[in-house]
Amino acid sequence: MPYLYCTDCAKKHRERFAAKTKESWEGEAALVVKGKLTSGPWLCDSCNKGLNRGRDSAYLVQYLSPGATTDLQYYDFAYERRYFKPSVKNVELFGWDREDFLHDWTENIKAAEYAEEEDEDE
Ligand SMILES: [Zn+2]
Repeated sequence: MPYLYCTDCAKKHRERFAAKTKESWEGEAALVVKGKLTSGPWLCDSCNKGLNRGRDSAYLVQYLSPGATTDLQYYDFAYERRYFKPSVKNVELFGWDREDFLHDWTENIKAAEYAEEEDEDE
């Protein structure tokens, strides 16, 4: 299960992630997705601040276990879509140096969002 954080708490986590050395990740990674909430209301998993649909941006942090790297290409952003569909703003990956996946994911998310927006117009 991923964790949902308000922007303040997410900032602390992202700073901590960025400061970690490759060795200290021990093969794990953290996928951090920012978006504007399209479901809710939810609570920040760290400080319990209320997070409101349609108004607040939030971050979803999913920890990836060592070995999951082979499954990266099949990661479908199901959780992220549940919270942010169709308004994912940014995708970051800490711990693994996989710019190739980051690029593909960002492109795929944007393409999927565009398709969903078109569906809503019908
Ligand atoms: Zn918080």
